[in-house]
Amino acid sequence: MTAQAAVALGVPVRLLAEGPEVSAAQVVPDTTVGDYRDLETLRSVAAGCAVVTFDHEHVPTEHLHALAAEGHPCRPGPEALVHAQDKAVMRARLDGLGVPSPRHRVVSDVAEVEDFAASVGGFPVVLKTTRGGYDGKGVWVVDGPEACGTAFSVASETGVAILAEEKVDFRFEISALVARSPSGQVAAYPVVESVQRDGICWEVTAPAPDLDPDLAVEAQRIAMRVAAELDVTGILAVEMFATGEPSTGSGRRGRVLVNELAMRPHNTGHWSMDGAVTGQFENHLRAVLDLPLGSPEARAPWTVMVNILGGEHGALSEDLYAGYPHVLARDPQLKVHLYGKDVKPGRKVGHVTAYGDDLDDVRERARHAAAWFRGDLGQESE
Ligand code: ADP
Repeated sequence: MTAQAAVALGVPVRLLAEGPEVSAAQVVPDTTVGDYRDLETLRSVAAGCAVVTFDHEHVPTEHLHALAAEGHPCRPGPEALVHAQDKAVMRARLDGLGVPSPRHRVVSDVAEVEDFAASVGGFPVVLKTTRGGYDGKGVWVVDGPEACGTAFSVASETGVAILAEEKVDFRFEISALVARSPSGQVAAYPVVESVQRDGICWEVTAPAPDLDPDLAVEAQRIAMRVAAELDVTGILAVEMFATGEPSTGSGRRGRVLVNELAMRPHNTGHWSMDGAVTGQFENHLRAVLDLPLGSPEARAPWTVMVNILGGEHGALSEDLYAGYPHVLARDPQLKVHLYGKDVKPGRKVGHVTAYGDDLDDVRERARHAAAWFRGDLGQESE
C-alpha cells in the first residue's frame, strides 16, 4: 500500500522482503529477498537510497544505529523506533513525559506478578512480552499465579522480558494517528475507534462515535506531543484505552490511557486511504521525504474499515476473488483492498472501507462485504 502511494508520487521504492511471496514483493520490482536482522543485507539494500523507512518495527535497533552512523537517514530513527520496539522502554519514557498509561512493572517471576497484582487491586492482570509481539501474540490476560506459566516460558525461550500491566476496564479502544516530518510539520488524523477480537484489529470507525470531544482533543494532543518529544518521523499511531462513563454534560467524561505506539502506517489508519483527503501511506512517504504533508481531513462524516480475516468455513475462504461479483455489485461505493496473501484462518488478507453520512448504513455496508469475503455471511453481518 506504500508502493501504491509511491507510484502516484513518482517516488521509486526499493524493498527488502522476507520472502518472494510477501504482499509488497508482488508489486515492487526492485525487491531484495533477505533477512532484516542481517546488517550486511540492510547495508546493501540501503546503498543509494535517499531514506530508509519501515513497515514493521522489528529491525534490530543496533543495526539502525549502524546504518544511521554510516550516513543512511533512517526515518523514524533508532532513538525514536526503540519506543515502538520495546514496551518497557516505551512505558518508562511515557511515565517520564507524564503521559497517562496503565499501571505497569517489569516482572521476572510469578512472585513478582503476584506482588504487582496486589498493588493494582488483584488479578486479572495483563502480561506482555516487551519485544516481538503483534496482533495480540505475546499478550496474556492472567487470572492468577497458576496462569503465568506460558508467558514466562515464552520469555525464557526468546530471552525477552515480561511487562505486567493492570487490566484496564476500558469502554473502547481508540487510536490517534499523526504524520510528522523531520522539519517538524505534523498532520493529525481524526481519532478513531478500533474494535479488536482475540487481540487482532477487526473494525475501525472514523471518527470514534462515542468519544467525548474533549477526550478526542486530548488524544490528538498526546499523539502530537509523543511524536515531537520522541522525534518521530513518518506515521505514529498511538493506541489508547478510553475509560469512564459516557459524557452527560456535567458527569464524568472518562480518561485516555496509552496502550502502545506504532511508528509506521498502521491498521487503525487504513480507513484514511479512501476516507481521508490524504491517506496514511502517502503522508508517511511525504513525511519521511520531508515534503509538505497532505490534509488528514475525512472526506465524509463517517468512515468504517473492516479487516478481511481468513475465514474458518465457506467457499470464499480460499478464493477471495470469487467475492468480487457480489460485493462490488451490491455496493458500487465500497472500496476493497486485497493483499495477495494466502488465506489462513484468522490472518489479515485484506480490508474494505465504506464512507458516507449515515453511520449505521456505512457500518452495515462494510461489515456485509467483509463477512461475504470471509465466507460466513449471516453470522457477522447483523
Ligand atoms: P500487540 O502488540 O500484540 O498489538 P497490545 O499491547 O496492543 O499488543 O495488546 C493487544 C490487545 O490486548 C489490546 O488491543 C487490548 O485489547 C488488549 N490489552 C492490552 N493491554 C491491555 C491492558 N493493560 N488492559 C486491558 N486490555 C489490554
